[in-house]
Amino acid sequence: MALPTLIDPRKLANQGIVLEGQFHDQHLPRLAEAVASIETPLSALIKFEIDEARAKVASGTLSISVSAVCQRCLDPVTVALSSEFAAQVIWSEDQLCNVPSDREPWIVVDKMASLNELLEDEILLALPTVNYHENGLCTGDTFLSEDERGNNGEDDQVVADNPFNILQQLKK
Ligand SMILES: [Zn+2]
Repeated sequence: MALPTLIDPRKLANQGIVLEGQFHDQHLPRLAEAVASIETPLSALIKFEIDEARAKVASGTLSISVSAVCQRCLDPVTVALSSEFAAQVIWSEDQLCNVPSDREPWIVVDKMASLNELLEDEILLALPTVNYHENGLCTGDTFLSEDERGNNGEDDQVVADNPFNILQQLKK
């Protein structure tokens, strides 16, 4: 089921509404620009509620698969993203201090807010800045020494594996 793009989050919170459904790539333009392609719709379950402090909160889970460029071999790699999120509705930046650190501030100055933009923000936060195939599945592995193959590509060493270094190795 398609999720609504425009919602009234305060009203949904007052009513304790749960929304479940999907957004297709036409509603995720910034994500589409950030990756090679979007492979599945964005699926989300969002619960709107009022907490003990009377704050209006939207929380839930989302998942999507995208295709990104592997920074080691430059072939496409499928990245399955899933994320939990919690956002607190506020009227303005003046209320940022009311938002606990485990929630995103969601500034909604009018009655209506864009649900797809909120979820797109959450996915962009969950998207790694660089993506790699798993060890053994990447044709770029042949360029790595045994030492480099041993680490999981999470530290500074991967910076040295950029395409320009690979080109230099090809020239040798
Ligand atoms: Zn690769």
